Amino acid sequence: MEAAVESPIPGIEASVPQTKKRRASENGVGVNEMKNGTTEKEKFIDESYFASYSDVELHRTMIEDTVRTNAYQQAIFQNMEEYIHGKVVVDVGCGTGILSMFCAQAGAKKIYAIDASKIAVHAKQLVEANGFSNIITVIQGKAEEVELPEKVDVIVSEWMGYMMLYETMLPSVLYVRDKWLKPGGKMFPERAMLFMALGEAQWITKYEEGTYDFWVSLNHVYNLDMSLLADHAVARYKDVVHVHMVSQEDIVSLPTPVCDLDLMRVTPEDIRCISHNFNLASMGSRRLNSMVLWFDVWFPGGLKLSTSPHNEDTHWQNTVLPLTTATVKQDTPVCGVINITQDLSNHRFLNVDLKYRVDSGEEIIRGFKMDDNCTDNDF
Ligand code: SAH
Repeated sequence: MEAAVESPIPGIEASVPQTKKRRASENGVGVNEMKNGTTEKEKFIDESYFASYSDVELHRTMIEDTVRTNAYQQAIFQNMEEYIHGKVVVDVGCGTGILSMFCAQAGAKKIYAIDASKIAVHAKQLVEANGFSNIITVIQGKAEEVELPEKVDVIVSEWMGYMMLYETMLPSVLYVRDKWLKPGGKMFPERAMLFMALGEAQWITKYEEGTYDFWVSLNHVYNLDMSLLADHAVARYKDVVHVHMVSQEDIVSLPTPVCDLDLMRVTPEDIRCISHNFNLASMGSRRLNSMVLWFDVWFPGGLKLSTSPHNEDTHWQNTVLPLTTATVKQDTPVCGVINITQDLSNHRFLNVDLKYRVDSGEEIIRGFKMDDNCTDNDF
């Protein structure tokens, strides 16, 4: 039997409608749009999104990322006396409830743990099993629709997606901030930065070389020239965003911040379109083949959770935009502009547009769509 989960919104179904786990990009979206307009479309996308978070394996992936989970635990415990003990907390997107339970261990007076996914049912069971039912109230519902009985001192949320902004969960947290956070309240985390740097990703080089070798080798085997397909295969590989680990040796410039978000002040409009003019310089003689992005977030007190290639691996990995390979020397300038915008057909997806020039070469324009496929691109 599934545990009952409170719905604080009168007249609104507490549970997420049963949808078969599927990708937000799958069709059906267009049909909904024709029938009911954008709101229905967004609702459909959200249903798929929350359905995917009902999968316990996804929560295992996040929790076993000890860089992530330990950072939240330490941030909560280090700030226990000043900001958590005796305070009212809301956990936006509580998942299994792990962050809420950290806050309970740190002496919070009351915690509202909100999640729109059916994982909230398990969160409630876990809260009971750990003896926190008197402190933590699990609420299954969309954070934007939940009515709390009081304002809160602290917002805890792990809202970051790939490349920080993928999934577009941050606007939900900001909505809760504006509606429920007391003046002078605290956000965990309170600052978030996205970075970019030039890369020479070895796995791209390997793929490129292996692909040429394969298609050219067919000449010896079948006496047919299939080599034209090599260019096509490489172009296809380079046309998509890759979520992949990048080792620090593969970073060939200093990073530049793409955005620096003060989470107490930033608005959803600020992040709908992020634009950054960059001016990078290569380090050493290298084969530039990618732009690499990662993010860091900071908690009150200064503790940093970093997903940088210069730090330990995390489940977010790094985000890689493949570029046409160019040979660069020490201090070759690579200048341009990057635009990151929410995709119009699916607000959870992103479009990344890049305009850049290597040294005094031609301006190159590239557009990448960041969708559900971004983790499956290592063909
Ligand atoms: N806090 C948990 C889970 C983080 S994953 C942990 O740290 O392990 C993000 C969670 O936020 C998912 O379970 C997702 O269902 C939930 N979520 C995302 N947007 C939401 C929204 N607008 N309202 C309620 N829950 C949301």
